[in-house]
Amino acid sequence: MAYPMSDEDREIQERARRFVDEELIPHEVEAEMNGGRLPDELRERHHRLAIELGLYAMNMPRELGGGGMTMLQQVLVSEQIGRATNALGWCVHTPAAWAPKVVSSEQLERWIVPTIRGERHECYAITEEGAGSDVDAIAATARRDGDEYVLDGLKWHVTSFNTADYVFFQAKIADGPSAGAHAMFFVDKDTPGVRLVREPRYSHTYPDTHAVVAFEGVRVPASNLVGAEGDGLDFTYEWFRYERLMIAARCCGAAERLIEEATAFAKERVQFGEPIIAFQAIQHMLADSLTELWAARLMTYGLANGIDRGIDVKVQHAQCSMAKLYASEMANRVADRAVQIFGGRGYMRENVAERFYRELRVDRIWEGTSEIQRNIVADQLAKRGVRTLAG
Ligand SMILES: Cc1cc2nc3c(=O)[nH]c(=O)nc-3n(C[C@H](O)[C@H](O)[C@H](O)COP(=O)(O)OP(=O)(O)OC[C@H]3O[C@@H](n4cnc5c(N)ncnc54)[C@H](O)[C@@H]3O)c2cc1C
Repeated sequence: MAYPMSDEDREIQERARRFVDEELIPHEVEAEMNGGRLPDELRERHHRLAIELGLYAMNMPRELGGGGMTMLQQVLVSEQIGRATNALGWCVHTPAAWAPKVVSSEQLERWIVPTIRGERHECYAITEEGAGSDVDAIAATARRDGDEYVLDGLKWHVTSFNTADYVFFQAKIADGPSAGAHAMFFVDKDTPGVRLVREPRYSHTYPDTHAVVAFEGVRVPASNLVGAEGDGLDFTYEWFRYERLMIAARCCGAAERLIEEATAFAKERVQFGEPIIAFQAIQHMLADSLTELWAARLMTYGLANGIDRGIDVKVQHAQCSMAKLYASEMANRVADRAVQIFGGRGYMRENVAERFYRELRVDRIWEGTSEIQRNIVADQLAKRGVRTLAG
């Protein structure tokens, strides 16, 4: 065992593992061969089981119908989810955990509680053609007009726009005393002026698209503003921290699966009269992979535990970046080695290593690229010192 866990933690981990092994992994190749899609009844089954097993909305408060799990427990579940390819694990959805603290009671009832119940689905529209790593460069605007805001902007890479029914839209206030401040809005997808521009194809084979979406003179009631004008970036950063930790967890799960599968193959595959695991070149690839997985896992579990104990939010910020940086780069190295160990089979789409080789690449890009994580870590190091961040 990599880390001390309570009986409840272990039970949750086992519940998630069984779900992934029995319900998701058997359908990966079918999804891969069908553009990421599974039959509706299977999707519905996964959705229902994720709710019944108490995994859905595990990050949301119990009093709102969520799982109320500790951060360590959420990491344990996300790690298991990360063992399946083709985003099959996305049926275990984690809604915006920052929201209940800041939204109005009307917003809670209209968007957040139905999302926790799995009846509504959100997506995030922040990135633009000219604003990726530099979120502050967004050109989208929100102009107050009486009791409404008028929203304009062109958003890129809007993940799950095809399955969502509302959007968190980030813009800058166009005029007035808060001009230039960031603000976030709830926008129902069917609001006039919201237009799907295109759905480009990406490296992975996922059912969810990453759409380019235009917001053209979209009128929403002023009550759709989340928090206050000027709060928008704070929510985004809180979400980034959470997602960075969960990416680290999912990458650990992917690496575990890859190491297990590559080891099993290496023991059974015979060349030159011997199982290839007898060759030192293969052994070393597996040994490096396992060692790096253990390091990433200790980091990820330790950070989750620290968050549960209430460590300083700035320390969390740096450590979430370190965990995401290390675990995502670790998982990419492990996937590369796994492809190599599988040889020609590792280049076939029916092989788990091939799929993870493509799928894990984005974990070094989304929710802040590796370069941006390094910038954050270096900045925090200069401000807080080694012992605070890695003591
Ligand atoms: C599959 C996918 C899904 C996504 N889903 C969403 C979503 O749902 N909603 C959303 O809003 N966005 C989403 N994104 C956008 C994602 O967050 C951005 O792609 C990411 O933040 C990087 O921005 P960019 O692609 O514009 O790259 P850029 O910011 O243009 O960066 C290009 C390169 O320059 C480097 N670079 C930039 N600035 C610096 C610097 N200061 N120092 C060193 N190097 C730097 C980067 O690391 C990178 O290597 C998604 C992206 C992908 C690929």
